[in-house]
Amino acid sequence: MVKKLGVLTSGGDAPGMNAAIRAITRVALANGIEVVGIRDGYRGLVEKKFENFTKSSVSEIISRGGTKLGSARLSEFKDEEVQNLAVKNLKEENIDALVVIGGDGSYRGALALTSKGINCVGLPGTIDNDIPGTDFTIGFNTALETCVENVDKLRDTSSSHHRCSVVEVMGNRCGDLAVYTAINCGAEIVVSPETGYDELDILERLRYLGNAVKKNHAIVIISEKITDVDALAKKISQHTNFSGRATVLGHIQRGGSPSPYDRLLASRMGEHAVDLLMAGKGGQCVGILDNQIVGLPIEEALQRPKPSRKHLYRLFDRLV
Ligand code: ATP
Repeated sequence: MVKKLGVLTSGGDAPGMNAAIRAITRVALANGIEVVGIRDGYRGLVEKKFENFTKSSVSEIISRGGTKLGSARLSEFKDEEVQNLAVKNLKEENIDALVVIGGDGSYRGALALTSKGINCVGLPGTIDNDIPGTDFTIGFNTALETCVENVDKLRDTSSSHHRCSVVEVMGNRCGDLAVYTAINCGAEIVVSPETGYDELDILERLRYLGNAVKKNHAIVIISEKITDVDALAKKISQHTNFSGRATVLGHIQRGGSPSPYDRLLASRMGEHAVDLLMAGKGGQCVGILDNQIVGLPIEEALQRPKPSRKHLYRLFDRLV
């Protein structure tokens, strides 16, 4: 029987984390479980940055981006001694269960604590959509909206100047933000870890679009960590009849008020996390698979292949 539950956010922040914190807090309180907010991820566990939460502690945060609890990375949390100190601190406060909102690194910390007697459940919070065990992560939909809004603006100005805009989006080696943005914005080319990078092919396709199709603008959406987009834009200017310009959307993708989709997803996942802990389950993570909210053992989830997006790349190719 869970009496006191802790909640923390870890790794990179994402819009919708606050909605998850709110849902976890309110569902737990409604079930007679006390709630403690832990600041700054695993660092706050070690440094005892604890705050007792009431219903009003999480008022007016559902619409706010970022995380009310702050997030941090603490590489030392991989050390068993540091984990033992965290368990000691939790036990001193009578916190007997924990919800960790973060990425797969954060899940591993949750697994370690569960093996030491504190049941933990992980919630996938990242804009990159790169966490196994779920079709969508909390924050991805909001980041996608930000990408689409900004690429639409770039298209307006590109078409006035016979430009090719090369737009770098985030994803941390997952191409979802790129391919979803490319389809939504009617981009001409998408480059992601799934497509691979073939510079000659990109230039050849742009020459064809400029010379044969006589397009007066083009948009290339490219995932981060693939190539230097400024250098690519220069080559586009040199080798095609477009003037190439690179835009790195950067951290604006991580900010902003969460979309209704993310608010609902975070609320449903937060509710499910509390239900799992009340059922005595730990070492699990929550996901959405085929539109159903599910709990999976973290170890099993981390080994699952990423959902295939082949159908989206095929759709993109058919729409160009
Ligand atoms: P993001 O996807 O935003 O990067 P993440 O949760 O994967 O999120 P990490 O930096 O990998 O981000 O992990 C966050 C924190 O989780 C780390 O700073 C560390 O405190 C803890 N952590 C990561 N890996 C482990 C591990 N193997 N064992 C215990 N704790 C870990």
